[in-house]
Amino acid sequence: AKEAGRDQFVCYDPQLRTRHLAQARMVDRLREALDEDQFSVFYQPVVDLQTGRWVGVEALARWESFSPDQFIPAAEDSGLIVALGTWVLRQACRDAAAWHRDHGTRVAVNVSVHQLREANFTVVVESALADSGLPPSALTLEITESVLLGTGMPRAITHLAELRRAGVRVAIDDFGTGFSSLAYLQELPIDTIKIDRAFVPCAQPGDARQFALVRTIVQLARGFRLGTVVEGIETSWQSRVLRLLGCQLGQGYYYSKPIPAAAMTAELAPQSAP
Ligand code: C2E
Ligand code: CA
Ligand code: CA
Ligand code: CA
Repeated sequence: AKEAGRDQFVCYDPQLRTRHLAQARMVDRLREALDEDQFSVFYQPVVDLQTGRWVGVEALARWESFSPDQFIPAAEDSGLIVALGTWVLRQACRDAAAWHRDHGTRVAVNVSVHQLREANFTVVVESALADSGLPPSALTLEITESVLLGTGMPRAITHLAELRRAGVRVAIDDFGTGFSSLAYLQELPIDTIKIDRAFVPCAQPGDARQFALVRTIVQLARGFRLGTVVEGIETSWQSRVLRLLGCQLGQGYYYSKPIPAAAMTAELAPQSAP
């Protein structure tokens, strides 16, 4: 009787119930928002730490006042991320085609594991490129470590290898925050690692360990001939330190928050083609 009582308690946990309901409502609203074109794409510059030049952008989904940390997980759980991710990819390629033509700007797009599991993923990417006129070599797909370790791994690797042969680049996002081993670096079809902002040093004198971590990741990347992008640079001190530690490219509020496409066009205008 005690056991049954406990089960019942779990079943009707009011907080859990509220969360399920909130999630279900979020999914309904997401579906509606997709039908009604309520999403937009913002862009954050990727900056050459040596020159300060904006060499690329990362596309980030936006929906009303919700944070991506709220609606992306709901979209992942419900499978809507496949449609949303395709929409973001196509929009980003369209926006970036002009930036690439005029300024040589590259574009990075986040890709969910659910998209990579779809049989037609390479076709989706190739048609986004063909329809926008963006050259494949100007596109980077950002994936997290978990993508390559889950059950969908063989198919994901096949897709990525095929796209890389066409010139598309692949980056590992949030590098160092997952549970994976480093062994996968030898096997995976990747070009760049994005160093998570958890590794960006904060200005506290005397902590040599935080520098050692970044330096080690940079050396690791060099050893595998991979590029590096550091995320979450918020101060000039951090940008200087990270440059001295050997990081090539960086992103963060110090340079710019993510901004709408029109604002990005205006920001890039003074930069001529390389
Ligand atoms: P992410 O891919 O790691 O993107 C970087 C996040 O860090 C962005 O958050 C960006 O606004 C934020 N950020 C940039 N610079 C700084 C900084 O200096 N300090 C701090 N504290 N944060 C900074 P955002 O736009 O809220 O996106 C959160 C996450 O949602 C992304 O993390 C990504 O995992 C996911 N996401 C966003 N758009 C998409 C999408 O189109 N598809 C997929 N699958 N995921 C997306
Ligand atoms: Ca990313
Ligand atoms: Ca990241
Ligand atoms: Ca992240």
